[in-house]
Parts: sequence; C-alpha cells; structure tokens
Amino acid sequence: MLNIGTQTHPLPHQDALYILLHRNQVLVEAEDQFLIPFTHFQPNAKMNAVYCGEWQTQEDEIKDIFVCRFESVPKGFTETSLRELLFEQDQAHYLLLSRAHQLSTWDRDHQFCGRCGTAMPEKHPKEHAKICPSCQLRHYPRISPCIIVSIRKDNQILLARGINAPKGKFSNIAGFVEAGETLEQAVAREIREEVGLEVSNIRYVDSQPWSFPHQLMVGFFADYDSGEITPAPGEIDEADWYPIDDLPHTPNLATISGQLIHRHVEHMKTNDV
Ligand SMILES: [Zn+2]
Repeated sequence: MLNIGTQTHPLPHQDALYILLHRNQVLVEAEDQFLIPFTHFQPNAKMNAVYCGEWQTQEDEIKDIFVCRFESVPKGFTETSLRELLFEQDQAHYLLLSRAHQLSTWDRDHQFCGRCGTAMPEKHPKEHAKICPSCQLRHYPRISPCIIVSIRKDNQILLARGINAPKGKFSNIAGFVEAGETLEQAVAREIREEVGLEVSNIRYVDSQPWSFPHQLMVGFFADYDSGEITPAPGEIDEADWYPIDDLPHTPNLATISGQLIHRHVEHMKTNDV
C-alpha cells in the first residue's frame, strides 16, 4: 500500500523506486514491471521527478516512490498503454499507478501560474502543491469528479452505448459534475440529459480514480421513477432495459462501471438493494 503521508518530500535518491512515463505511456521492463530501481536507468535533469509517497513492498520494505517523464524511451524499456497496464493491477498497484500518472500530469501542465503567468519551477516541500512566487496563489493537482450510475427498473437495468463505444459494448450512464452541483444532482441531470428518465433513491456505492487524465469516478445506484428512454442525439447511440439474466457485453470487472453492474445484479438476485 502507498502511504501518502505528511512528511517532508525527499529528493530523488538511489534507494527509491521510479515510475517512468513517456508521453502518456508507461515504460516497463520485462513482465510489465513498472516499479523501476534507480540503477536500471540513466537519470537526467529534465526528467522532473515528482514524489508520490512511501510504498510498502511485498518484502515489507518501505520505498520512496517517484514518477518521472522521459522525452524518449530509454534502452531496455518498452512503452505500455496506461489503460492496459492499470487494469492488470491489484487495487494497491492500480491506485499507485493512477496517483503517479495524475501527479506527473499535473506537474507537467502547471508550469506557470494560471492567475498571473509567473513560472512555478518549485514544488511545495510537504504538500503536493505549487505556490506562485509572485501572487502566492496555491495550485493543487486537478481532480475532476464524475458520476457513474446503474439504474434499476423491476428486474432490469439500463445500459447505454455512447457514440464512441464499439457496437455491442454497453455501459452505465456517466458524466462530469458541474460547478456548484451536488453529486446526486449530477446523477439526476446526466440521466435526464442522456436518456430522458427521472430516477429516485440515488445512493452511493463506490469510487475509483480514473487517470484519463484526472477524473474521480463516483459510483451510484438509482431506481427508475418515470419517463421513456430517449437517447440524447450526438451522445448516446442506443440505450435499453436489459433483464439481469440476459445482459449484453458489459465493461471489465476491474473498472467501476463493470463493478457497479456486477454488484447491482448480485443485489437484485438476492433482493438486497
Ligand atoms: Zn501568480
């Protein structure tokens, strides 16, 4: 597990483990190993290491973790898609890799103050923050909350296919939370906008960081209340009610979308909703 902690952030050192990125790909060694010892690569001044926290290894050692970006792929490494690598991981490694990618992306994309334009080369020594040396504005890593919801009607759940999803691949309704909105309001609004339905009994189930690039997916169940399914043009290609014993292709169980569907179906089978 990763201990994010409140200790002073160390500088990169030889006993730490490193996560190496190239653009939005992860650099791995054999067998998709992405936690890289210092001696396995050539550190350079441009790699811009960002501290992620303390990691407890399987051998019960405590290791500092840093994430770095490379401008080219170093010898001995291959590039792997973040998405593919993430969904092969257990929960602890998933969260570690998500955090590393989000922190590095934030660091790369916040080189200048958004208020006054001054360069911000320094990171705060204890927090993941940058403070503008000119106007003192504090900048934290961006996290964008998104809701995702599985909707029940009797013994069926609603599944939809977005315009960018391949034919035959269905999922839940999801969308970004708007400024000034509660999570529950976002759930009701997204369902209304995307499929034209009203729901009740909106309840929280689970959450998952989603580093593409910085969402936090917040998962809910809801019950159908009223309305006819009306897919939003330009957003949803098809949507329908599916009996829980005859579902189409749904997302991988490593994703919160797949988990929500699985858990909703299990609850409905045991009437434990
Ligand atoms: Zn500023």
